[in-house]
Amino acid sequence: MEDTGAEGSPPGTDESGFPAYHAGRCGSLAELDTELVRCRACPRLVAWREETAAQPRAAFRGQEYWARPVPGFGPADAALAIVGLAPAAHGGNRTGRMFTGDASGDFLFAALHAVGLASRPTATDRDDGLELYGVRVTAPVHCAPPENRPTPAERRTCRPWLSAELQLLGPSLRAVVALGAVGWQALLPVLGETGWPLPRPRPAFGHGVRLTLPATGQRRELQVLGSYHPSQRNTFTGRLTSDMLIELLAEAAEAAGLTPSAD
Ligand code: SF4
Repeated sequence: MEDTGAEGSPPGTDESGFPAYHAGRCGSLAELDTELVRCRACPRLVAWREETAAQPRAAFRGQEYWARPVPGFGPADAALAIVGLAPAAHGGNRTGRMFTGDASGDFLFAALHAVGLASRPTATDRDDGLELYGVRVTAPVHCAPPENRPTPAERRTCRPWLSAELQLLGPSLRAVVALGAVGWQALLPVLGETGWPLPRPRPAFGHGVRLTLPATGQRRELQVLGSYHPSQRNTFTGRLTSDMLIELLAEAAEAAGLTPSAD
């Protein structure tokens, strides 16, 4: 049985109970991010994130890869969260920031900028000056997986980080966008664990699907929207166009009560 870390001595960073033990004890997103980057709970993903760093693509040769778990990016009082799947081996795993340094991120941040939720349309590295306004971009799996496919066990092991992140965002959070069917399937159980009641049966994923989770206890009502993932497979084929993503993000911003910046 998985060690939840509820009792006994704290698990080591390379034990599967590390996320469950530490994530729920963090009192702020800054603390959560600090603990997260120490995590080595998934041996296959630890090996992969380090292996890709040791074999950089030609275009990135000479760069020092992050090669650690990639924290969420955006303010701690975000009203809107965007949940992808996992960092890319030569994107987030290289730059250390979600969706930064790969084609999916280029597409996403250009759309966020078009809606007024990002200070600039491009994201190249952690020091590029990009700011997000009221939005936090994160993922249910924080280390790059081979072929972008984490196993169910890896998703389960990593889940406490997202659960705690949403918990800490809870007071300000009003809307979440799930990117792709896998992001949708990963997100809904986490929202359930975090305290929002989920409808049964759970609604199927689709681009533009919108779900309202009622307020409960200290939780506000939450709007959950589905969007096709800005993967190259979707953007190159036209399944997801810039206009489609911009329209969806504008709807999400409105649902979150965000007033886009004039930048
Ligand atoms: S995927 Fe998540 S749980 Fe696994 S090593 Fe990375 S941060 Fe830790």
